[in-house]
Amino acid sequence: MTNFKRIKEQDDKYFLNTYAPFDIAFVSGEGSTLTDSEGKTYTDFLSGIAVNCLGYNNPIFTNAIAEQAKKLTVISNYFYSEERGVLAKLLVEGTNLNKVFFGSSGAEVVECALKLARKYFYNKGEKKFKIVSTLESFHGRTLGAVTLTGQPKYNLPFAPLPEGLGIYVPFNDIDALEKALSDPEVCAFLVEPVQGEGGVRPATKEYLRAARDITRKNGQLLILDEVQTGGGRTGKFWACEYFDVEPDILTAAKGIGGGFPIGACLATDEVAKAFYPGDHGTTFGASPLAMAVSAAVVKEIKKPNFMENVLRLGEHLKTGIKNINSPYVKEVLGKGLMIGADLDPAIQAKDVVQEMLEKGFVLNACGKNILRFIPPLIITEQEIDNMLLALAPILRG
Ligand code: PLP
Repeated sequence: MTNFKRIKEQDDKYFLNTYAPFDIAFVSGEGSTLTDSEGKTYTDFLSGIAVNCLGYNNPIFTNAIAEQAKKLTVISNYFYSEERGVLAKLLVEGTNLNKVFFGSSGAEVVECALKLARKYFYNKGEKKFKIVSTLESFHGRTLGAVTLTGQPKYNLPFAPLPEGLGIYVPFNDIDALEKALSDPEVCAFLVEPVQGEGGVRPATKEYLRAARDITRKNGQLLILDEVQTGGGRTGKFWACEYFDVEPDILTAAKGIGGGFPIGACLATDEVAKAFYPGDHGTTFGASPLAMAVSAAVVKEIKKPNFMENVLRLGEHLKTGIKNINSPYVKEVLGKGLMIGADLDPAIQAKDVVQEMLEKGFVLNACGKNILRFIPPLIITEQEIDNMLLALAPILRG
């Protein structure tokens, strides 16, 4: 029996199947290279779904875990913590935001954002509880976050859904947004600066600016979901820097932990003070271990050259995909190292992913028919070129 067969049999028997895994089991990683149970190597253009920004076995990440694990791991939020303050400061620096709540996943901090927005108006005695979000969005799988997700396939089976959520507007449509936000019971608008799972589609500058202006005029809150874009993925530490838009609340997760589970909900002082002690909490959030690892990762990403490199590599990748001159690539989307190729239905992104796996490259399909490239941010030009060389004959048909 091969190693893979043994791993698969055990997994199939015991792991609750909410995914449909590929017939591959990875056993180790180094840089942007993954090795499977049979010793075959792959170059990773998925990075755990936009998570492993520093690649695998990066000493910045592994040393931070080892050092902090020896010192202190979880102590609860009943006590002060140096590590917690250090990371919160690092995250809010350079933004209009002042305070941070820490959780352990993206959905968890989206949930925090929605509770915070509602609590803000509850404290004021205003009946504002509805949250508008966009079609094709993705905000996570908890009941609140999945209801805010503008893709019915993810939430319909779980009805009845929480009241006041599930009000969707088409992405990048200012008129539709203005109309939806005219409802006086709306407390907030939640939007991704670049839609991730929905198809790597960036918001236009006009749209996010209008979202800021309209919510401000109506006395509503703007929540930016940067769970996928945050932490340098787009070539800026926060994607909202591209749009000159200052949110009231911002959510982050994935990349800011570099592979360690973490979520962060950032808010302005004005909004953050709506939560009183006891209003919200979580056992694992803000553990010194998560804080120290994330701080090490974030410090590395925030180094000046790091982001320049992401932008340069992103352009290289984008140009490379365009230069394939595929009759099937309708548009190359995205920013930094969050890139998607929108494919004509004549070729299926999921089939391309399968063919690329066979050639030793891990890609992913998302949205309607988007081939997505979200490699570790430390990927090299050579690795990108090798991937493009393998991809070209498939995309040329
Ligand atoms: N928000 C966005 C924009 C995401 O892309 C995701 C996950 O893909 C989430 C929220 C949910 O994050 P998690 O899977 O960590 O709960």
